[in-house]
Parts: sequence; structure tokens; C-alpha cells
Amino acid sequence: MKAAFDTQAVLNGLHSALAGHAGFISLHEPEFAGNEWGYVKECLDTGWVSSVGSYVDRFEAMLADYTGARRAVAVVNGTAALHVCLILAGVGRDDEVIMPALTFVATANAVTYLGAIPHFTDSEERTLGLDPARLGEYLAEIAEQRGSECFNRVTGRRIKAVVPMHAFGHPVDLDPLAEVCDRYGLTLVEDAAESLGSFYKEKHTGRHGRLAALSFNGNKIITTGGGGAILTDDDELGLLAKHLTTTAKVPHRWEFVHDMTGFNYRLPNINAALGCAQLEELPGFLVRKRALTERYAKAFEGINGIRLFTEQPFARSNYWLNTLILDEVHAHERDTLLAITNDAGIMTRPAWQLLHHLPMYAACPKMDLRVAESLAQRIINIPSSARLGEAG
Ligand SMILES: *Cc1c(COP(=O)(O)O)cnc(C)c1O
Repeated sequence: MKAAFDTQAVLNGLHSALAGHAGFISLHEPEFAGNEWGYVKECLDTGWVSSVGSYVDRFEAMLADYTGARRAVAVVNGTAALHVCLILAGVGRDDEVIMPALTFVATANAVTYLGAIPHFTDSEERTLGLDPARLGEYLAEIAEQRGSECFNRVTGRRIKAVVPMHAFGHPVDLDPLAEVCDRYGLTLVEDAAESLGSFYKEKHTGRHGRLAALSFNGNKIITTGGGGAILTDDDELGLLAKHLTTTAKVPHRWEFVHDMTGFNYRLPNINAALGCAQLEELPGFLVRKRALTERYAKAFEGINGIRLFTEQPFARSNYWLNTLILDEVHAHERDTLLAITNDAGIMTRPAWQLLHHLPMYAACPKMDLRVAESLAQRIINIPSSARLGEAG
């Protein structure tokens, strides 16, 4: 017999899963217990802290090796990575770009930097990400093929790309999504900012479209302080990504020749040094995070009206952020739960405000967003640092 839902039972569930971890427990904190100190010190000792030094090449090689991508280009943050991915995907002024409404604001911002328009689509409860079946049905209604290009019959604008986002590290169902993109001639660009270490059918997320963006912000599964990367299996795009993000400078012994309007998006060497050490630690982080998820699963299996989100059979999630999902009938208790858990020193957070609710994106085109609207009211993210996976 499951106990009836009550907010105190949820708090007790958290306390039991986190037993032994005293003091304030944050949502996700970085951990520097490997070679971080040594590698950063080497940058300081040698003076190679900025745009020259060997750690950037090494970090890029390690990222390519870990993810299996042919090319990884390290940049200053995940938003910059998305910006350049979209340029390389051919997104231009007045194009529409399909993305979930349930994502971090950066996904839409990067589109807007190009004068393009976010077009919001619904998520599915199974993955918390874009719903390929509903997207396919929606495009059948509103899209029109002209040659190899896809147009929105309603707005008259070209639809150029689809940007799924692997929410809290959980992979979206990429095969049917790629199939929808193929059917309509849309370029698939993954916002994999949260999913380093997450795999879809044995292949790392960020390798299922033409390009992908990673983030190494302080709250992500590994951090470089601030940082990001572009992944691609296309050598030519990889070289162009490197060129564009390093001010499009043509190599020369002394002349300053630039052949495009590039960006100063290169990741500094000192941040890349941190990244090399963090990437060495990633396998260990993943093991401890999975142990924490198992502890949460046990703690919540007996509580009615709320469930712990767990990966689909096609996915191996990094469990970057563990997520509780309230049943619809208890959605109104979310804010009470947020209050009592934060009061108890256990940091919890709701999902983002849906992007079409933000003033600058309120007028963007969108499909019926009922699942995202519902999920946004019912998601609670709970403490997920790797250290919490150790027995307290
Ligand atoms: C963190 C994040 C980004 C942006 O990364 P920054 O490094 O903070 O610029 C983009 N999209 C999603 C979904 C993110 O979570």
C-alpha cells in the first residue's frame, strides 16, 4: 500500500535519500578533486592562460574522443556554441527555428541573435523533450515544401532547423525526430548543453544531427568556469567552426589577415585546463550520480502522487539534475513543496518559465503546448551533485 500524497512525505523522502549529508544541500555543485589544481597551476606557472596554450587542443581532442564526434571546438560558453551551430546550419534572418518551449532561454536567444524566429513546439512526458510524433503531425498541417526547402504556410517564413534540447540530461527520442527533419528538409542541431555523458541508443547525444552545442557552465555536469563546445561529424563544418570562433584569422607569421566576420569565442587556455581535469573525472561523476538516482528512486517509490523521472529504454541519461514530477491533481502543491524543501536547507527549483511566457518571445509562432504547460507546473528539480551519491 502506498501512502497518500502529502508534502511532508515528499520532504521525508528527500531526507531519507540524502541521509548523512549535513548542512545546506545545493542543487548542483562543481567538484574539483582531480587534476584541476595541477593543470591550472601549470597555466599560471607558464603564463599560458589565454588564447595560446596546449590545453585547448587537448580538451578538444578529449571531447571528441569521449563523445565519438569527429570534431569538437571549445568556445567561451554554450550560448556562443549554439550561436555558431546555427550559423553553420544556414539559419539566417527571418528564418524560423523549431525548438521546445520548455528549455533554457539561451536556446531561443541564440536564434534571435541571427534575426531568426523561435517557433515553439510541445514536449512529451516520456522524455521531457520535443515530441517527434506531435511535431510531425503539426508540420503536416502548417508546413509546405518548396523544392528542398520548408516553409510555414501561416507566416510565409522559411523553417530552417530543429533544435531539440535534452532536458536535465535526458535524451529526447532522436531517431523519429531525425526522421521528421529528413522528411521536411530541416537541419537537426542538438542543444546538448545539459547532456554530456548521456547516450541515445549507445551513441552520445549531440551526434545525431549536423551539429550540437555543449555547455560547461558552473552548474553543468562538468565545468570550465564558463565554457562550451561545438560538436560535429563533418570535418569541413568543424574547421569552419574553429575559424569562425577564432576571429576568422588566416594563419600567418605576423600579418593580421581575417577573411570573414568572425567571433572572439575561443575558450581561454586556463579554462580548457580545468576542462581536461573535469573530463577525466566525468566517468566517476556519472557513477555516483546514478547511485544517487537509485537512492531517490527507492525513497519515492512508496509515495503516491509524485514520481522520480527515469530514463527511457533507448536512453542512458547522465542524470545531471534529478527531477520529481507531480501528478496533475497535485500540481497546485508545487510551490508549497518548493517552500518547505528550501526552508529545510534542501535546494529545489521549478522548471524554467516556458519561453512563450517571456515578454520577448510572447509573439513567436507556436503549436498547442498543453504537455509543456502541464509539465512546467509539475516539475521539481532536486539536489543532484555527484558527492551526494556517496553514502552519507
Ligand atoms: C546552460 C544551457 C545553455 C547555455 O550554456 P551557457 O554556457 O550558460 O551559455 C543552453 N541551453 C541549455 C538548455 C542550457 O541548459
